[in-house]
Amino acid sequence: MKQEIYKKIKEGELKYGEYISNILNNINKDINAFISLNKNINTEEIDSNIKNNKERDLEGLTFGIKDNILVKGINATAGSKMLKEYIGVYDATVVKKIKEAGGVIIGKTNMDEFAMGSSNETSYFGVVKNPNNLNKVPGGSSGGSVASVAASMADVALGSDTAGSIRQPASFCGVVGFKPTYGAVSRFGLISMCSSLDVIGPIANNVSDCEKVFNVIAGKDDYDSTSIDVLEEGKEWNIEDVKKLVVGIPKEYFVDGVDKEVKEEVNNFIEKLKSMGVKIKEISLPYSEYAIACYYIIMPAEVSSNLARYDNVRYGTKISDLKELDIKNLRDLYFKTRGDGFGTEVKRRILLGTYVLSKGFYDQYYTKAQKVRRLIKDDFDKAFNEVDLILTPTCPDKAFNFGEKNKDPISMYLSDVFTVPMNLAGIPAINLPLAKSKDGLPIGLQLVMQEKLDKRLLKISKVIENLINYN
Ligand code: GLN
Repeated sequence: MKQEIYKKIKEGELKYGEYISNILNNINKDINAFISLNKNINTEEIDSNIKNNKERDLEGLTFGIKDNILVKGINATAGSKMLKEYIGVYDATVVKKIKEAGGVIIGKTNMDEFAMGSSNETSYFGVVKNPNNLNKVPGGSSGGSVASVAASMADVALGSDTAGSIRQPASFCGVVGFKPTYGAVSRFGLISMCSSLDVIGPIANNVSDCEKVFNVIAGKDDYDSTSIDVLEEGKEWNIEDVKKLVVGIPKEYFVDGVDKEVKEEVNNFIEKLKSMGVKIKEISLPYSEYAIACYYIIMPAEVSSNLARYDNVRYGTKISDLKELDIKNLRDLYFKTRGDGFGTEVKRRILLGTYVLSKGFYDQYYTKAQKVRRLIKDDFDKAFNEVDLILTPTCPDKAFNFGEKNKDPISMYLSDVFTVPMNLAGIPAINLPLAKSKDGLPIGLQLVMQEKLDKRLLKISKVIENLINYN
């Protein structure tokens, strides 16, 4: 919420309810960031809290919530035809915490189907457009969440990041997107894609708002046995502290395939840090090269098992739609509803996953990929013996055109080449908007730290954000 609006509400010149109605009435439909809007917001408590100085940590902050995160009583489609009628039956832990802290959910945001994609083109609910240039993709899979923030329709948003789905769109749209340590945020109430990699994280126009949201949603949760507490980092960082950091630059992330302008802007920023006295050290993460291949074995394996529940017995199509499908027996039910309810990319991954898990291939593919995953993590562990922070471009490229990559899955998959290693290693990483290209498209910078140092990474990022002249 802008400072002047906040002041007006505080002084009683504007009701919080009017402010929210105004937002909901002025959602930019062209961008298609929202799948549904929340028409049932109780604004009175917030109004009175603001007026009486009783603000909670997120009082009155507006949220876009990715449509794979459950909000009680509102749809949770995961961007799929399969769940187009599904309504959340409880609040995800993150949503419960946001509501308790005074956050206001204005809508559920568009996304690639079941969070599979890098351009938001796989959504059953239509593409999302990049607010910087409506002819470009916003990135994915949290494209709607990111676009809602980039177009100032929501103050903050939640996304999920399995391979880059928060950071890559944040880079394409020019906002801050934070992927926490694996487990630092509860996944209870998140529609699973790849459970060993999925993480929920905040998206905002500045690091400070991301930090605020992260501090509310993070922490161990009895409903998610993989959740953990991340370390409390009391002290705020200043520029003098940042100058004492040793920053690692992995040489494998500055190779030929990287867009010229992206490389130039990131290199200029590295020079700037150097000239301020920050110690820059070249490092090597040799196994990152195998991250995409490794991900496209582990992820489909988990997808094939996680998406088995959409069989129309447990979850699936509406009865009226079933009539149209002319189902005669159980086999028909599985084939026709899964055939009809899932899009091409989802089907591709279920097939791949079923294959790599099948007898005779399991060790050859799945076990091998798990071993490579360990080597990728070992690379980071070794690097963090020498450096405090790792800096890379977030993506090899800027936002691309609609239709440019969706006929060639491999080229689409490569969009995550610099983000997926951090998911496989389970470590925290953030995208900061760095610069705009000559044609006005955002370029992102990625900062990465050791697991559980999320709070420190956010504090450092607040200082680094101030060194960037993003416009
Ligand atoms: N582009 C990745 C994929 O398609 C993004 C996954 C994610 O982070 N949810 O799998």
